[in-house]
Amino acid sequence: FRVLALETSADDTCAAIVDSSRRIWSNVVVNQHYLHEGYGGIQPLVAMHAHQRNIPTVVRQALTDANLQMADIDGVAFTRGPGPLTTLFFTAFSLVPGLPGCLSIGLNAAKTLAAATCKPLVGVHHMQAHALTAHLTTDPAPEFPFLTLLVSGGHTMIVLATSMHEFRIIANTVDRSIGSTIDRCATLLQIKWPQDLGPGPGLERFCAEDVPDEAGAPHFQAPTIMRGQLAFSFTALHSWVERTINAAGGTEHVPRRALARAFQNAAFAELETKLLLALKWCETHHHAVRHLVVSGGVASNTLLRQRLKTCVSRTRFMEMKLVFPDPSFCTDNAAMIAWASMHRFLAQDHDQFTIAPLPKWSIEAIRNPPTSTMN
Ligand code: ATP
Ligand code: FE
Repeated sequence: FRVLALETSADDTCAAIVDSSRRIWSNVVVNQHYLHEGYGGIQPLVAMHAHQRNIPTVVRQALTDANLQMADIDGVAFTRGPGPLTTLFFTAFSLVPGLPGCLSIGLNAAKTLAAATCKPLVGVHHMQAHALTAHLTTDPAPEFPFLTLLVSGGHTMIVLATSMHEFRIIANTVDRSIGSTIDRCATLLQIKWPQDLGPGPGLERFCAEDVPDEAGAPHFQAPTIMRGQLAFSFTALHSWVERTINAAGGTEHVPRRALARAFQNAAFAELETKLLLALKWCETHHHAVRHLVVSGGVASNTLLRQRLKTCVSRTRFMEMKLVFPDPSFCTDNAAMIAWASMHRFLAQDHDQFTIAPLPKWSIEAIRNPPTSTMN
């Protein structure tokens, strides 16, 4: 079974073709970082207009790369929700839940393609797709139940996956996501976005450069929050970076490299601590988890990967198999959307052409989504 999938939930316009034997025929991602850099974050209307411009091109490209026609496609999938809520935190549209405008562009294109070519349609939960990425890209695929750390632009969660569509949130953020905190702090630290890449890779490269911390830089001590609790919080870390910069009298007066490294280390330490708590929770609640999948945009960070491996290997959970999808599949892509739709196509469980986007949609409610169209 061959699926053409579209993904437009955030700032990447993506189309991909994947089949049920896990072959990825094509995987096209057009990013728009250069449009957003000046704003220091995703601007919903700018993103929407870019999706509108790019969607026909990515669909055409996905078919051309695969050397296929629409007649060779068996089903059309798209990202139905959720939108990355916290990326809007610092925009003028902070009261808009998610990016419904962005979601609608992929959804309408998918519906129209499916209707015109008489193909079945399936709407996919974006975080389910991030969680199941490893099933598409890793051999052998992780076994259920597995634990997954989802770290992205709009989410920071540890989730227990018991089937392709059943997920239980073990830990969630009480405020903003790690990805949006990284983006915000990279902007505060005036770190340049690498070409075609966003602030996250910018911060990673800046910290990894073979340059020591500034001479005489203080030993920065980031705050620890939610100690001992199965929950994340990143607001205090963000405020700490902001306060440190303001107290120094501006970014140009602060030892940027030392502060950037202290921030990145503190953010990753928070993930390590809570991951170990979650592993203990699984043990206590008799969930025989053998795989730990780390996915979402932040999971493409090499230092994070190394740190999580080392951290787990030093505990009694050392037998746990850590699975990191290739970085290009951790950030947004439509191949993961195609894969997350596959089990539904195979079960002939299709959506109606009247289906609406769901900007707010919990990963725990995949089979019973909220009913309101603009929730
Ligand atoms: P969500 O998946 O929650 O809806 P999203 O789709 O916008 O949000 P992703 O594309 O999955 O998010 O991830 C983007 C986030 O990952 C951004 O915050 C980005 O800065 C961060 N990111 C990407 N690469 C890296 C990296 N190498 N190091 C740290 N962060 C990174
Ligand atoms: Fe994402």
